[in-house]
Amino acid sequence: MRRSLGWVIFGSALGALFVAERRRPLRRQKEPGPERVGRNLTIGLLAGATTAASEFPIVAPVQRLAERGRLGLLRLLPLPRVLRVVLGFLLLDYTLYLWHRMNHHAPLLWRFHAVHHLDLDLDTTTGLRFHFGELAMAAGFRALQILLLGVDRDTLRLWQQMLVVSVVFHHSNLELPIEVEERLNAILVTPRMHGIHHSTRADETDSNYSSLLSCWDRLHGSLRLDVPQEQVIIGVAGFSTPDEVTLERSLLLPFEEDSRLRPSIGAALRPASA
Ligand SMILES: [Zn+2]
Repeated sequence: MRRSLGWVIFGSALGALFVAERRRPLRRQKEPGPERVGRNLTIGLLAGATTAASEFPIVAPVQRLAERGRLGLLRLLPLPRVLRVVLGFLLLDYTLYLWHRMNHHAPLLWRFHAVHHLDLDLDTTTGLRFHFGELAMAAGFRALQILLLGVDRDTLRLWQQMLVVSVVFHHSNLELPIEVEERLNAILVTPRMHGIHHSTRADETDSNYSSLLSCWDRLHGSLRLDVPQEQVIIGVAGFSTPDEVTLERSLLLPFEEDSRLRPSIGAALRPASA
């Protein structure tokens, strides 16, 4: 019941954003037709099916194992429940920041994550467009988070639900009033911030890796807010036309040798003061 209510809320939020971003677009779209939306939804359906399919054999058993064996960092510390939830939430979000960076730097991970970046435009449907291979590997990473961090299933569910809404929101092409966006961005990842991460320019892509809370980019000095959206060219360098990013090309890309796919060799992880 609770789960289906969650899906209704998510579906309504997605629908409302989809309509709103077409009324108040932040960036001009290169592929405004329905073909791109259909392509992204198809890739998204495969991604959703992969996530659902990996829950049963991978994520759920690991959660049971960690609970039974009292495994993970947070279970070792004598903390009150509320602190355990807050810390668990922050650690899940921070480790996702690190995982996203790895997706750009490790060649194998980048082959799959590049499919998400290949989209020539950015809107709510890009937030669903992840290669099924990336999400299969992400399920393995999720299992590792559960085992090492020791987060309980309620904290994990709360964070995952907020993350899904955040991912759709920050990929959206909705032009928010700048002062509203600046206020939101003090805490959350927003559309202008994430738009810079989807640039074809390496120095711009190599920024804004956070997915829910924006503080991780501030912490590591990887935050960039200084590029106007009209200057951002969305996509991956070398793939600039719709023929190069068709459904078939997108799904096959990770399995082919393509010299245009170069992982980021950007700055090493560092604290903001370094
Ligand atoms: Zn990325």
